[in-house]
Amino acid sequence: MSESTIFDKIISKEIPAEILYEDDQVLAFKDINPQAPVHFLVIPKVRIATANDINEENAKTVGLLYVTAAKIAKQMGFAEDGYRCVMNCNPHGGQTVYHIHLHVLAGKALGWPPY
Ligand code: C5P
Repeated sequence: MSESTIFDKIISKEIPAEILYEDDQVLAFKDINPQAPVHFLVIPKVRIATANDINEENAKTVGLLYVTAAKIAKQMGFAEDGYRCVMNCNPHGGQTVYHIHLHVLAGKALGWPPY
């Protein structure tokens, strides 16, 4: 298992975050450096370092990240207009925190491709 990250401290409430949703398996909070009018992260409470560590055993937990994103999208009212879910992996993917997180970006028509 890799080193703990700042997200462990957000889960344990040692550092503050604007939490949008929490249950025993996942946590959703606003990104501290938003890249769209709406930008939040959905993370599993169990640490999975990168997308490369997703496997048959933790697939259900990872699926809950998407379930949570869709739930919040409906609650916040942007589900119909749409949104983007992104999980960056390793340096070329732009990952900086090694605890997987689903970025959920919304609130405007987003550009594509992302470079
Ligand atoms: O995909 P990547 O690993 O680069 O994303 C990490 C994200 O975590 C960044 O968007 C950053 O703004 C966010 N972050 C945060 N709160 C922190 C530390 C990082 O929202 N305390």
